[in-house]
Amino acid sequence: MAIFEGMLLLNERRSVVDYGQRLLTHGLTRGTGGNISILNREQGLLAISPSGMDYFEINPEDVVVLDLEGRIIEGKRRPSSEADMHRMVYNGRPDIAAVVHTHSPFATALACTREAQKNGLPPIHYLTALAGPSVRCIPYYPFGTEVLGQAARVGMEGRFAVLMGNHGLLAAGPDIRYAFNVAEELEFVCELYCHARTAGTPTLLSEEDMRVAMERFRVYGQKA
Ligand SMILES: [Zn+2]
Repeated sequence: MAIFEGMLLLNERRSVVDYGQRLLTHGLTRGTGGNISILNREQGLLAISPSGMDYFEINPEDVVVLDLEGRIIEGKRRPSSEADMHRMVYNGRPDIAAVVHTHSPFATALACTREAQKNGLPPIHYLTALAGPSVRCIPYYPFGTEVLGQAARVGMEGRFAVLMGNHGLLAAGPDIRYAFNVAEELEFVCELYCHARTAGTPTLLSEEDMRVAMERFRVYGQKA
């Protein structure tokens, strides 16, 4: 382990490796799709998964460290092609310190529909409240571009997630555990929504229902 000593953001890099593998084992992405980053706000640096590498072959030293202007500070690999999107989300959001991007099947299927691109994911299930009162969906923009990153940042305002038209899902949170949970639970809600729409007309929760659910999530779970 001695070779790891002195590496910037070692804990964050290890978490990027760990949660990258969970993207596959939890069915949230396939192949090398999706990407993860964790921000260390004190140091103003983020650790991000490398571009196009098998998640089970990534080691901490393959994770790339960037500053918030996108400069590579440490790492021999190329950073994820969506690095601009990740760092744009961090700008102006002191409540976000981890970002998870997936191509999970139901969220992505929904993001391919005109209905979702017009209305987003409506509040059909209380778990949506992990992300906010509802989840918006941005139009399609080419992957890996700044214009996509800007649109995602705006789409995520006041939320911890946004659907990306004809592309996938972007989830975020105050730490990687929360961000990953948002990605996983929203995939579940999108699956429910697809099933509910084939079974009938989904009943939407009210603004008050969602406000109460968001409040309950604030006090739910184990204290750190
Ligand atoms: Zn993508």
